[in-house]
Amino acid sequence: MDLSLTDDERDIRQWVRTFVEKEVMPLEQDVLARERRHERGLPPEELKRLQDTARAAGFFGVLTPEEYGGMGLSAVMAALVEVELGRSFVPFRFAGDADNILFHANEAQQEEYLRPTIEGTRKSCFAITEPGAGSDARAIRTSARREGDEWVINGEKTFITGGVDADFVMVFAVTDPEAHKAGRTGESVTCFLVDRDRGWTSQQIDTMGEWGPAALVFDDVRVPHSAILGEEGKGFALAMQWIGKGRYLLPARALGGCERMVEMAMEWAHNRVTFGKPIAERQAIQWMIADSATEIEALRWLVLSAAWQVDQGRDSRQAQSMAKLFGGVKCNEIVDRMLQVHGGMGYTRELPLERWYRELRLLRIYEGTDEIQRRTLARNLLKGHVSVRGHLG
Ligand SMILES: Cc1cc2nc3c(=O)[nH]c(=O)nc-3n(C[C@H](O)[C@H](O)[C@H](O)COP(=O)(O)OP(=O)(O)OC[C@H]3O[C@@H](n4cnc5c(N)ncnc54)[C@H](O)[C@@H]3O)c2cc1C
Repeated sequence: MDLSLTDDERDIRQWVRTFVEKEVMPLEQDVLARERRHERGLPPEELKRLQDTARAAGFFGVLTPEEYGGMGLSAVMAALVEVELGRSFVPFRFAGDADNILFHANEAQQEEYLRPTIEGTRKSCFAITEPGAGSDARAIRTSARREGDEWVINGEKTFITGGVDADFVMVFAVTDPEAHKAGRTGESVTCFLVDRDRGWTSQQIDTMGEWGPAALVFDDVRVPHSAILGEEGKGFALAMQWIGKGRYLLPARALGGCERMVEMAMEWAHNRVTFGKPIAERQAIQWMIADSATEIEALRWLVLSAAWQVDQGRDSRQAQSMAKLFGGVKCNEIVDRMLQVHGGMGYTRELPLERWYRELRLLRIYEGTDEIQRRTLARNLLKGHVSVRGHLG
């Protein structure tokens, strides 16, 4: 078994590491200052400048296939890139990626939605959650009624990331109420691509994080039949595919932040003297650092193993759920400990720890809560779909 990186992988990671250190981290104080004024931490023009710099060096569309102009990196490489980006809390991402399910678009839709999303001239959002349907996504009630060659959409979506800025939404609606009532979600839900100028509205929701998702309202929004993404009635599988895409990437990003926080805490512990000695010499502090570093290492391998299984074309769902669950729980414990090592300073807005503390909390909620990951993991095990021995058998 060879757990080392290839030279190519090492080179790509090194480029991203240097980019983050030289271009992204120097913006951190400005980002914090803007956020304290309740402004957008990384303004769109600043983000574009960074993305253009990266693109000039070839970093564009990390997961986008090469035929669409992207880098088409492996899942393992994408995870390694995400760890490096996560080392800064600046909300930077490379340009050129599009929602995985947009690749199911037909030719016309690809021109209208997919390619402009990759180019960054259009912004998407993904809307399945409703006030009465979160973890239980099968309970959605937003409806689309057929009238001639049109569909009329009615309903409310909530917590939609990017919903305030999006030009179009991938919205999931019930198109076969009978099948839906009978629990046949595989036939009852359809995904529609709906431009904002069709009439849906959005309202930002304030959260404990630095960016707000939105509530969307569809009140007799009319779209042509050609707005369907994929096939009529087959939308639920697309929704699950979208949600499944990031289960190894979200904890990868959080992992990068945790590495940085442990480094910050170690530096602090060397310099902070109490009762005549640096706190780094106290066992209480050492154990927090030791436990955190161990958990970071365990998470790294859960993430990379899940990503490797994606690359192998294996069924990676169990591995991805484990990475998401462990990442959510452990990163929240780690940020809490590293804030503790900093004492009162950790609690202030002088340092980014309290920001990470707030942001990382989300990892236990979105794209499948801790409880839902545990439910999935236990079900797969108890029904014998997977073995507790993992992919090595
Ligand atoms: C910042 C943010 C961004 C988001 N972005 C998007 C987005 O872009 N698009 C989108 O569609 N959605 C988005 N969501 C929605 C997110 O996916 C849901 O909030 C999440 O799935 C949980 O649903 P819920 O909030 O309705 O909680 P609920 O489903 O009501 O759950 C409440 C609690 O009960 C627990 N629970 C539920 N069912 C069970 C069970 N069977 N067994 C044990 N415990 C259970 C949950 O784990 C949770 O602790 C976002 C949410 C947030 C907060």
